[in-house]
Amino acid sequence: MQRLIEFDQALKTLLASVDSHVGATKLNLSECLGRIIAEDVTSLIDIPGFDNSQVDGYAARSREVLAGKEFDISQRIPAGSNPTSLEKGTLARIFTGAEPPHGSDCIIMQEDVKVIGDQKVVVLKSVGVGENIRKRASDLKTGEIFFKKGRQLSSADIGLCASVGKVSMQVYKKITVGVFSTGDELKQPGEKLERGQLFDSNRPMIIDCVKSMGVNCVDFGCLPDRLETTVKALKSASEKVDAIVTCGGVSVGEEDHLKDAVKELGELKLWKINMKPGKPFAFGKLGKSAYLGLPGNPVSAWVTFALLCRPFILKLSGKELGNTLFTMARGGFDYENINSRREFLRVTIDSNGNLQLYERQNSQILSSICFCDGLIEVAPKQIIKAGDSIKFYNFSSIG
Ligand code: AMP
Ligand code: MG
Repeated sequence: MQRLIEFDQALKTLLASVDSHVGATKLNLSECLGRIIAEDVTSLIDIPGFDNSQVDGYAARSREVLAGKEFDISQRIPAGSNPTSLEKGTLARIFTGAEPPHGSDCIIMQEDVKVIGDQKVVVLKSVGVGENIRKRASDLKTGEIFFKKGRQLSSADIGLCASVGKVSMQVYKKITVGVFSTGDELKQPGEKLERGQLFDSNRPMIIDCVKSMGVNCVDFGCLPDRLETTVKALKSASEKVDAIVTCGGVSVGEEDHLKDAVKELGELKLWKINMKPGKPFAFGKLGKSAYLGLPGNPVSAWVTFALLCRPFILKLSGKELGNTLFTMARGGFDYENINSRREFLRVTIDSNGNLQLYERQNSQILSSICFCDGLIEVAPKQIIKAGDSIKFYNFSSIG
């Protein structure tokens, strides 16, 4: 019997096989959301570019300020204006984001003064040096690298790039992933189901998983369970895309032809993972294209896509991956994995923020993915008690 490969080892093998990236292209910042940067990004200016007030209030010399003391207001400084030096013994009215006048060293919040006339206030409490002043370059310094190559840009990242005046970015070109489903029993939605047939749900699901990652996707249709047809289709696909994902036909039955087709055309590097669901997952190479074979059961297809294909496709797209895909979260249930396989179980998050085990864990029950919030990872023989910290893969970060 073929030895099962440990999940961590399988992921490592997949990621280690990525040895090059597609080329880069220059895009306007407005087109860069979700794209992966192909260069280190350096700040062109200090952020903030000048000391500025953090509040609406009054600029002062802190040593002159005492609770109960009355001051004249000698100038008014809105954001964007150019103040003159602060007259001794006076305050300057100042607004959030404006530059404090020369000579001042703090800002009194407007809530901490009482206005007693047109140009007069009484300060209600003393104030320390530097209080309520945002210092120049406290966020970014000129010349500082703030994003490393391989980062996938979020909306906050776009904001930070705009704040240093970036107009365009070098990003990696999008890779293209092709998706096949396989199986003589499958019909497409809209067609009539005969006895023993079912609708092809994996292909639309996996196509959308791919698309939601921001990469190009080609729908290669549904393959019959025939070796020659499979070989021909995979060969032609491998000339068109960077990675091929298939669903089904990678298990041990005589109707499962994908592994044989991959062996005939290229190399099968990995098959059968010590995980549940997802055991039949396969990985290989077809010419210059990568091959990822997902099991046919819909939950197994979804889980192996999320945990193995997704990180692989991201790395192939140029992304530097973080340390882990999971976070630690608290379980609200007892469980023992009596299996020798690593389990990925579907869980919900309850109103107290604890994880709860979903009752239906069968790998055919796709609705369990829809109605759950994530997966937990349970090692072989691991015993979980309510309150334990568990490896948790939140669907919002892997789905
Ligand atoms: P296989 O790995 O091809 O033996 O498929 C395992 C199970 O998943 C079978 O019950 C198939 O009918 C089902 N299956 C395979 N492919 C799909 C698909 N594209 N959509 C829905 N179910 C599928
Ligand atoms: Mg099949």
